[in-house]
Amino acid sequence: YEVIRTSDPAVFQALELEVQRQRHHLELIASENYASRAVMQAMGSHFTNKYAEGYPGKRYYGGCSQVDIVENLARDRAKQIFGAEHANVQPHSGAQANMAVYLAALKPGDTVMGLDLAHGGHLTHGHPLNSSGILYKFVPYHVRQEDERVDMDEVRTLARQHQPKMIVVGASAYSRTWNFPLFREICDEVGALLMVDMAHIAGLVATGHHPSPVPHADYVTTTTHKTLRGPRGGLILCKSQYAKDLDRAVFPGVQGGPLMHVIAAKAVALHEIMQPEFKAYSGQVICNAHALAKGLQERGWRIVSGGTDNHLFLVDLRDHELLGHEAENCLHRAGMTTNKNGIPFDPNPPLKPSGVRLGSPALTTRGMKEAEMDQIARFFDVTLRHRGDESTFARVRQEVFHLTDQFPIPE
Ligand code: PLP
Repeated sequence: YEVIRTSDPAVFQALELEVQRQRHHLELIASENYASRAVMQAMGSHFTNKYAEGYPGKRYYGGCSQVDIVENLARDRAKQIFGAEHANVQPHSGAQANMAVYLAALKPGDTVMGLDLAHGGHLTHGHPLNSSGILYKFVPYHVRQEDERVDMDEVRTLARQHQPKMIVVGASAYSRTWNFPLFREICDEVGALLMVDMAHIAGLVATGHHPSPVPHADYVTTTTHKTLRGPRGGLILCKSQYAKDLDRAVFPGVQGGPLMHVIAAKAVALHEIMQPEFKAYSGQVICNAHALAKGLQERGWRIVSGGTDNHLFLVDLRDHELLGHEAENCLHRAGMTTNKNGIPFDPNPPLKPSGVRLGSPALTTRGMKEAEMDQIARFFDVTLRHRGDESTFARVRQEVFHLTDQFPIPE
């Protein structure tokens, strides 16, 4: 960042400290990853200068021949990877991808079902302060108390009772495999559309490590920066019959000019995803999440639903008389970045919840494997069991420094 160093020292200083943090902390936030140098180069490229409202071949600006090429590459790669009939790569984020599908498929006031936010769902699946909850009547479904897995009997009962226009499937904090064919069956029974927001698991879907929603869903949305390891952004896949309305809903429905530098970076990331190395990475993400969960269980920490099938899980802290924000803070001081998270049926409020969420995608990108996961489970355990002791934080911090030094991030 030599140029920024001299042109803007204030931004440079923050950037430099952030790079240090990314290098020397253990990134356990399930929704984060390290994009490759190629992806970062595309994001920092001349494509950032270009306006390109519209779609390839039908732009409202001149000079779009090269941006057309990269947008077509991104669309074709997305369709090929996921076996989709149509792809829109313009959404600026996962939230805008979801908003665009709702705009294309629903009318204000329509009834929609989504997983309760308190049970792992996402803000854009009907939170009262999000446009989804303001514009549409969301009916939440839940996980079962006994096994903390989605209660498909309840989904069917609620669908029959409320006759939703759409059922939204997907989550930010759910560690089990989704039964997409059963959701499709329920949707067909009540005449609902099926939308799957696979933001968290998209990388696993791309490599066949989680069943694909694409053959079953009318619309599939995702972010591109989590397990897909691309730039921050969104992506929508759908059946051809919805393509025209969907494209109109993205632009001009919810967005203006596309971020062509980000779309170029999406194309680069999608090319990386097609390589055999990415398949191996994705498999290791799951092995690492298992190993981390197992390491914690063996040390006496309860994992919500008893384990994980994907890249993340929730740790229930209640047996240790500890709240999520306290754990997040102690872990941060010992060099581990996590986020506090509610657990299903949480007796505590969202800002002081009973859990933390952990995920393996970022550490797996650094090349860590099962042995390192067990070491990190030990760091977690020691830190939180000696949370009154500053010297423990310092000791673990030192060990974290040593470990992170052996597994560099993409520079
Ligand atoms: N959908 C799900 C399931 C998510 O987990 C997230 C982000 O965490 C989003 C949508 C929103 O993505 P973004 O933050 O890019 O708007």
